Amino acid sequence: MATETPALPIMSHWISGKPVAVSLDDTGPIYNPATGQVIARVPRGGVDEVNIAVESAKAAFPAWRDMPLIARSNIFFAFRALMFAHADDLARLITRDHGKTFPDAKAEVLRGIETIDYACGLPVHLSGMMTPNVSTKVDTFTLRGPLGVVAAITPFNFPVMVPLWIYPIALMAGNTVILKPSSHTPGATQLQAELWSQAGGPAGTLNVVYGGKEAVKAIVEHKDIRAIQFVGSTKVGRYVYEEGTKRGKRVGSFTSAKNAMLILPDADMDLVADSAVAAGFGSAGERCMAQTLMVAVGDTAERLRPKLLERIAKLKIANGMEPGADMGPIYSKEHRESIINWIGIGEAEGAELVVDGRKFVNPDAPEGFFLGVSMFDNVTPDMKIFNEEIFGPVFGIVRAATFDEGLALINGHQYANGTAVFTTDGGAARRFKLEVEVPMIGVNVPIPVPAGFMSFSGAKESAMGDLAMRGEDGVRFFTQQKMVTERWPEPGKQGPLSLVFPGN
Ligand code: NAD
Repeated sequence: MATETPALPIMSHWISGKPVAVSLDDTGPIYNPATGQVIARVPRGGVDEVNIAVESAKAAFPAWRDMPLIARSNIFFAFRALMFAHADDLARLITRDHGKTFPDAKAEVLRGIETIDYACGLPVHLSGMMTPNVSTKVDTFTLRGPLGVVAAITPFNFPVMVPLWIYPIALMAGNTVILKPSSHTPGATQLQAELWSQAGGPAGTLNVVYGGKEAVKAIVEHKDIRAIQFVGSTKVGRYVYEEGTKRGKRVGSFTSAKNAMLILPDADMDLVADSAVAAGFGSAGERCMAQTLMVAVGDTAERLRPKLLERIAKLKIANGMEPGADMGPIYSKEHRESIINWIGIGEAEGAELVVDGRKFVNPDAPEGFFLGVSMFDNVTPDMKIFNEEIFGPVFGIVRAATFDEGLALINGHQYANGTAVFTTDGGAARRFKLEVEVPMIGVNVPIPVPAGFMSFSGAKESAMGDLAMRGEDGVRFFTQQKMVTERWPEPGKQGPLSLVFPGN
């Protein structure tokens, strides 16, 4: 049983550039999943906190919008330096709250900082287009301006990287932001907000409100929030998308996934085995880009099984701060139980459970939320464990006779986030890239998360909205394009009044 001591630190919302004190009654527990202990408390914000944060963001908006781009960019350069300087601190907080290994957490921080790099250079991407003389002494041009107050609602599994995929672009484009992170992994969010202030980010530009359903509802319904980017499950993402767009907001929801890698018989099987174990079990399978299905063509499943088993047997599952740990615990006790339940469903559906991680216990931390890795073979497309996201260290092999059959299995899936093909045949890889209906594609790369300056998005049940996150689409999402038609008539040379539609 988890115990709770009265002297636990209480986190605070971050509004108007400073922490907001909360009473103990308005907080919930934060667990360290590696020990199962409550380590701090997080506020449960709702409509009042969201309202205060929006007022702060509204007040900060005009000066922030009007700040010269280079001055804004300089704040981002300072923020980037501070984030690098605190990369280890951020990573430690991620590991503490989420459980992933410290090197994995550090890699998350560094991948997230790539979007700050992009924000530093954003003035280039905010440029418009100008065309002179579209009519007599008439010029026309486009410009991109901020929307106003915007929001980010983010999941537990990337407490630093996913918020960083959203708020730097929103801020650099001149918006002010309300960030509502997951209450399960809030530690690293607080530090980011503090560093933003230290970097010179004006009060009210980046506000953090913690909370769950009530806070999200308040954001979705707030009339002064112009746009929301949501990252999380399809169920909640659909609610945010439908209720937000109904109220005239611009919404992008980036949601659940079940990614599959297609293995062709000519692939390098050692590379495939390494990639499958890394992409299936890294971060305990709690990545939206985890590859948890392998579509094995021809005899590849038979050739891969011993290689996968050999690698699985060597995995070290331990506290993420322990040197050499490959995988940490599951982020919450409830989620661990849900994964265990899924393994039982797979067995009942008739898949072959080749490796059963349910029996794993970490002797050093019996109360931690640890789970071993599991591997199914002979998973078929009629099974729930094929169709549904488990979001844990559970890997399934699906057998396909041909490339076409394998491709059809991937294209028939409800989710379409990331995929990969493993082959030494350039022609087959080319066909895969052109015909697969999944937008993020790896060729002999198992977790094809695009570089920080590129966009990131899914399709089908993995994303809602027209634009991707980050990159060029991120700029479009967080700006309003204006089309200006301009004339400077010479005094006294204005033509006669005419009601005819203006022409050339
Ligand atoms: P989640 O949907 O439970 O939570 C996401 C956010 O919504 C959090 O801020 C949470 O506090 C809030 N929330 C949770 N329940 C809510 C409710 N009933 N009403 C309103 N708000 C609610 O997701 P999670 O468990 O934190 O994250 C895991 C999910 O996120 C997985 O499905 C994963 O695939 C997905 N994910 C997707 C991407 C992507 O880019 N597509 C990236 C990371 C994670």
